[in-house]
Amino acid sequence: MVTAPARPDADTDQDAAPEPEGAPRHPLEGPVDTVHAFWLAGMSCDGCSIAATGATNPSVEDLLNGTISGLPRVILHHPVLSLAAGEEFIEPFDQAERGELDAPFVVVYEGSIADERIAWESGGYWSAMGNHAIEDAEHEVPYPTSTRLRNMSKNAAAVVAIGTCATWGGVPSAIGNPTNAMSVMDYLGEGYRSALGLPVINIPGCAPVGDNFTETIAGILYFLQGLGPLPEFDELGRPAWLFSETVHRGCTRAGYYEEGVFAECYGDPECLVEVGCWGPVVNCNIVSRGAQSHMGGCMAAGGPCIGCTMPGFPDRFAPFYKTPPGSALSSNASRTLGFGMRRLRSLTNKYANQETRWETVDHGNVPSGWGKVDKPAGVEKVMHFFYEKMQFQGSRKPGRDGSRKWGTDVEPNRTRPAPKHEDDTER
Ligand code: SF4
Ligand code: SF4
Repeated sequence: MVTAPARPDADTDQDAAPEPEGAPRHPLEGPVDTVHAFWLAGMSCDGCSIAATGATNPSVEDLLNGTISGLPRVILHHPVLSLAAGEEFIEPFDQAERGELDAPFVVVYEGSIADERIAWESGGYWSAMGNHAIEDAEHEVPYPTSTRLRNMSKNAAAVVAIGTCATWGGVPSAIGNPTNAMSVMDYLGEGYRSALGLPVINIPGCAPVGDNFTETIAGILYFLQGLGPLPEFDELGRPAWLFSETVHRGCTRAGYYEEGVFAECYGDPECLVEVGCWGPVVNCNIVSRGAQSHMGGCMAAGGPCIGCTMPGFPDRFAPFYKTPPGSALSSNASRTLGFGMRRLRSLTNKYANQETRWETVDHGNVPSGWGKVDKPAGVEKVMHFFYEKMQFQGSRKPGRDGSRKWGTDVEPNRTRPAPKHEDDTER
């Protein structure tokens, strides 16, 4: 875990001389009114941008409008979403790089970082935004977003890698790729620390859950404002509260796994492990949080987990849709144990589907007009008897000792007077 660094305004030196009046404030000295978010894209499909715009808790609009109590307004500089274009759009990026912004900023990087030296050999580039002058060149050349990232990261309050391409390299860095693609963390190196003293913050997923991103940004902003602790990150820089559990533990199909019932093809409602689900060994919260607005998520939509949030993705999860090797032992163990467990549970389920009244008054007959419900008989009756014994063992069984016999005839034995005729009243 990363421990909280001292905020720039923290009073760590009791003997320090008081700042002279009118001295310029450190850009990170909170509370602040605005924070800039600079969005850079490398080898990306823009899926992370789309995921972020779908967030609801909080939404991007909430952050941009500054409507969250205590948080500064976020000014987003995004190559697709910003209204500004050309020089007007690029200038704030350059100001941030030069340390000339009068407000703190975070850099958000989407997509993996390709080795620009490879492209440069043939006179090209992989991912760039705007131009810059370089030595020995007559004209300005495209400014790679990776170089921008390195230069801006020194002054940034935080660098946030969004999506698996930025966090771990993702699909563009799969074995055999021609670009030597890598993650932001690999690119900036182990020693990187932001102006707030933070290593790269990683929010993986292909695409990530939008709320995971906005919630983490909000947590960092609360810290920046001095209104909250630094959110807890794990040793890989993931928000610890979002990525500590496996997919499997929150999966809506986990009950099927436990009872050893497995889908044979896509579209089946049961556990998907035998059609390629890696959920038991993958850190991801999409099934418990939902993809958007607490709806959807891979298993809810019928898709097995292919481990897209993980540093080993995609190589360690390929070929997709093949049964993961590790599941042979665990799913067969579930199948064996589940065989007996399912039968015992179906007996208890039948017991729970009976009103106690049906048992005592109707001798097990279910007065349903919808269909015939079989009375428990033979083994079931014996099992229910012992189940009830165990249920109340050591406690008092509430009023069901059968000493008082009720019937179904609950109408009082009274004769109602005949209704009076209107004419009778008049007379
Ligand atoms: S579908 Fe995957 S995550 Fe869900 S219960 Fe099965 S193995 Fe676990
Ligand atoms: S459940 Fe698996 S495939 Fe789906 S988002 Fe999470 S890690 Fe990716």
